[in-house]
Amino acid sequence: MEQKLLQQLKEKLEREKEEIERLLSSFAERDKDLPENWRTKFPQFGKHTSEQDENSDEVEEYTNLLPVEYRLELKLLDIERALSKIKKGKNYGICERCGKKIEEERLKIIPEAKFCSECSKKK
Ligand SMILES: [Zn+2]
Repeated sequence: MEQKLLQQLKEKLEREKEEIERLLSSFAERDKDLPENWRTKFPQFGKHTSEQDENSDEVEEYTNLLPVEYRLELKLLDIERALSKIKKGKNYGICERCGKKIEEERLKIIPEAKFCSECSKKK
């Protein structure tokens, strides 16, 4: 892969990483023992006036956020993994299933891709 393209992909990954961390930290926090794990914070919509108020809106919001958090967290892990491959100077852009090069066109769209387009279709 050309150095120039690699540099562009690296910058794109770093921007996405920042963006996802910013999004995640708006409604979740990092696990103290396991920093790559994020936990959705239970939202607090104002003060509760009574015990029963343990508010269905909050429960609903929390339930909606969990899958979002999960998706972002997985994507963040893929991005960090791709960045560490670039840093080590090996294996970036190589399909983790078949060992062939991942198409550059594909990497331009999904720089954190772990599989070539053929292998990702098989999944
Ligand atoms: Zn493959």
